[in-house]
Amino acid sequence: MIPFRLYDSWRHSKVVFEPLVPGHVGMYVCGPTTYAPAHIGHAYSAIAFDTVRRCLEFLGWQVKYVRNVTDIDDKIINRANELGEDPFALSARFTAEYNRDMARFGVHPPSVEPKVTEHISQIIGVISKLIANGLAYDVDGDVFYEVSKFATYGKLSGQTLDDLQEGARISVDERKRAAPDFALWKSAKPGEPSWESPWGKGRPGWHIECSAMTVTHLGETFDIHAGGKDLIFPHHENEIAQSQGADGPDTFAHYWMHNGFLNFEGVKMSKSLGNVFNCEQIAEAVGGEALRFFCVSHHYRSPVDFEVQVVSQAPPVVQFHSLEAADRSLAKFYETLQRIDAFIAQGGDAGEGAVLPEAEKLVPDAHAALADDFNTPVTMAALHAAAQLANRLLDEGKGLDKQVRRRTLARLGKDLRTVGGAIGIFESSPAAYLAERRARLVKLKSIDVALVASKIAERTAARGAKDWKRGDELRAELAALGVALHDGTGGTDWSVQD
Ligand SMILES: [Zn+2]
Repeated sequence: MIPFRLYDSWRHSKVVFEPLVPGHVGMYVCGPTTYAPAHIGHAYSAIAFDTVRRCLEFLGWQVKYVRNVTDIDDKIINRANELGEDPFALSARFTAEYNRDMARFGVHPPSVEPKVTEHISQIIGVISKLIANGLAYDVDGDVFYEVSKFATYGKLSGQTLDDLQEGARISVDERKRAAPDFALWKSAKPGEPSWESPWGKGRPGWHIECSAMTVTHLGETFDIHAGGKDLIFPHHENEIAQSQGADGPDTFAHYWMHNGFLNFEGVKMSKSLGNVFNCEQIAEAVGGEALRFFCVSHHYRSPVDFEVQVVSQAPPVVQFHSLEAADRSLAKFYETLQRIDAFIAQGGDAGEGAVLPEAEKLVPDAHAALADDFNTPVTMAALHAAAQLANRLLDEGKGLDKQVRRRTLARLGKDLRTVGGAIGIFESSPAAYLAERRARLVKLKSIDVALVASKIAERTAARGAKDWKRGDELRAELAALGVALHDGTGGTDWSVQD
């Protein structure tokens, strides 16, 4: 495997990764609380770390990737009450939707997807250790973590206990010893799901689940913990306090990774600003792979500006300018792949032997870029260069040795897919992708497919009768409808113009 460097939020610098077990990476990512449809912010974080995982595999590492689901929580209970639905059924429904949506963006299922309700005994185990270690206290069936007892609290987020005292004053719970203390176990309220515990019936607080799940699935100490930047405080800070409080100061994650925020024209995403877009809406507007392509065109740590325009509220019409540009660029790659495939299919095996040296750069360039804190934008530039070379060879490679040209194109086709796969793109067949895209654009632009077919048939007949003028008129009529024609050996195909 290839060594790599990553930016570690704990050390505030890029460092060389040193595994606990040679060749292996154990990675934990905080997953969703499933009470509502997944939105673009969820997708952005899931894509960022799925990309890290794929890159690690591309670099030759064995990855165990754990991403949890919070399937019991205040938000789930509240939403279930509003809808008159069982909270477990509601959460299961949104977990299935989440996984369906993430699959559209090429996010692979995690190696393990632990759920809170399946880890209650492990959670009780961690809380019991914290009480035994003098770091947590029970008040009438609620258990709180006593933050002041954990000497290094605040180190990840760079805050002192004084800052925290100041910040937490607004929401003082009378039963807590100090404002920054947080709930590990909440006593049962009437009508809420609850489990037996040494402190009476209740349910876990939010933060404790990740401490219980990491130790269960990755051990007391593991390699990488990841999540959105918004989770650094308090969630990740609390996870560290819990896990190290239970198992010792040298335990828990060796490296911390956080992905940047998605901004909408400089503004953070928030429900109150009306710029929270659901995954379903995005997949329908531009297709899932365009969002993936857009995400990997940026570095996971940098804040990303996302250009959208809400054209109308009712009916809801949104133009995702950034994603439409990504969709056009992605379609060009698929067109290149389709041309390469067609070229190779025509002439059989090109055999072993030399290829153009420029075509040998893509994989090593991608290795180097991705081993440097998963630099996907640099990898994208290498993909663009390779596709450009392929198109040049397809268009004007005639002066070149025939077999070298064929072998080079075959190599480019293979490597474009290999490197694309390392960042989660180019995994469809070009024909399927382009057909799906055409169907999407036909719907969006209300193109009458039957009319297009009849005009193409009329043009074919006109051309057959050598009526070139009528043929050109029909081409122009179709262009006015937003339809571009492609004449090939097998007849005339068409696409929707952007
Ligand atoms: Zn977590």
